Amino acid sequence: MAETVVIVGGGAGGMTSAAVLKKYSPEKRVVLFEKSEYVSWAGCPTPYYISQELPFEAVVRHGLEDFASRGIEVYNHHEVERIDFKEKTVFVKGEKINGSFDYDKLILSLGGIPLIPDIRGYLNSIEGIFRLSHVDDAIKIKDFIDYKKPKNACIIGGGFIGIEMAESFYLRGLNTTLIEKLETLFPKMDQSLLKPIYKEFEDKNLNLILGKSVVQINSHDGVLKSILLDSGEEIEADILLISIGLRPNIEILEKSSFKFSEKGRVYVDKKMKTYLDDVYAIGDMVFTDNFLTGKKVYAPFGDAADKQGLVVAKNLSGGNKEFKGVMGTFASSFFDLKMAKTGLSLGEAVEAGYNAKSVYVTAVTEVPLFKNAGRANTEVVYDVDKEVILGATMIGNIPVAQFIDQFSIAIAHKLNFEQLFDVDYAYSPRNSIVWNPILAAYRKIMSQT
Ligand SMILES: Cc1cc2nc3c(=O)[nH]c(=O)nc-3n(C[C@H](O)[C@H](O)[C@H](O)COP(=O)(O)OP(=O)(O)OC[C@H]3O[C@@H](n4cnc5c(N)ncnc54)[C@H](O)[C@@H]3O)c2cc1C
Repeated sequence: MAETVVIVGGGAGGMTSAAVLKKYSPEKRVVLFEKSEYVSWAGCPTPYYISQELPFEAVVRHGLEDFASRGIEVYNHHEVERIDFKEKTVFVKGEKINGSFDYDKLILSLGGIPLIPDIRGYLNSIEGIFRLSHVDDAIKIKDFIDYKKPKNACIIGGGFIGIEMAESFYLRGLNTTLIEKLETLFPKMDQSLLKPIYKEFEDKNLNLILGKSVVQINSHDGVLKSILLDSGEEIEADILLISIGLRPNIEILEKSSFKFSEKGRVYVDKKMKTYLDDVYAIGDMVFTDNFLTGKKVYAPFGDAADKQGLVVAKNLSGGNKEFKGVMGTFASSFFDLKMAKTGLSLGEAVEAGYNAKSVYVTAVTEVPLFKNAGRANTEVVYDVDKEVILGATMIGNIPVAQFIDQFSIAIAHKLNFEQLFDVDYAYSPRNSIVWNPILAAYRKIMSQT
């Protein structure tokens, strides 16, 4: 009989594993359970769907029919409530399948759960309070803005989702305040690079409050009215987005006598296998290795979930692929500003025991004398002894992710400065300058040694 692979969770990781698995192993029975309406949805475009810059199709790219036509059995509105790992059975609550369902192999891609702060007056049921970690949340937020027409928006949390949503609310015409309890945004980044971000808050008249915490939520008849800060300041709010981070969604594992590696963490090997032979876990629900430090880290990013889904699917199809870890690479944007980081910041590198230093260079995508030519400030962190790059951060009004990817390749393959110098890079006045950030960093670093 054909092997049955059950996948739980139809987000980024789950759908990638289903699609790749069916492609390379058409003989296998691939069954996917998703508790919500949608599969193959993407979290990354949701701020731009809410701001009405992207249509819904950018968030949900493929319908159930698409996967059915590829021979994948997808059950939406089917929640897996518990797993019996001994009997290799999942317990499903749904219309078409309601009860136990056996698997030969199990792939878990359950995603993450937004953290909720312990704030006086907070109730999940208060109208106007949202979090954003799922397409369902994005639909609710957009509908609320469309139909309830709020005027004042507050965001708790100045991470990348917080600032992308500050832009989104601004573009919807909302009077927006972002509150971050730390003294700075992105504390792990070099603060001198962040100046353009702070300036953008000022230029757009967005209220950025740093170093203060929300201590109370005020509502009336179940409707949000205002928030109170620890400084005593009260801010009117018709809509509040809580965006203070994510934790792995491990609730069904807790109900299923799964043995956690440590403190409720799911660790997997490089093939994404848990300690149980036929059980794999991927995406925002697992901790993974930091490529540079070897430490277990929580890196809830879509590209990692997709790659991990592919690794599992290929291996279940007879392959021998590994997911080697993450470097903390990410990109985000705030209006015309783009920011991206890979590897370690200087502080992180020193903390990890490297003899590290950093240099600052400017990146451009065309000769700076062109009218409106953009630029990005760049910090490159390097290992003084081994002469390799450990990290880079870029912020500016050019597409920085492409440059950051070059740094990521250098880090992943431990290319030293001379090897990076040897690369034949492209140059033309409208595309680049001769001294791209890698070469510019090379020159600076060499002049210091
Ligand atoms: C606003 C926003 C912006 C983002 N921007 C970026 C970005 O720019 N770049 C980037 O790399 N990443 C970004 N991300 C992160 C990215 O979306 C996630 O890392 C990615 O979706 C994780 O994939 P996953 O498969 O682990 O989990 P998810 O995509 O969250 O999927 C988990 C699925 O499991 C389902 N599920 C949960 N429990 C059960 C159950 N018991 N039974 C059945 N189904 C269940 C859920 O309904 C969900 O559909 C962003 C996320 C958000 C919210």
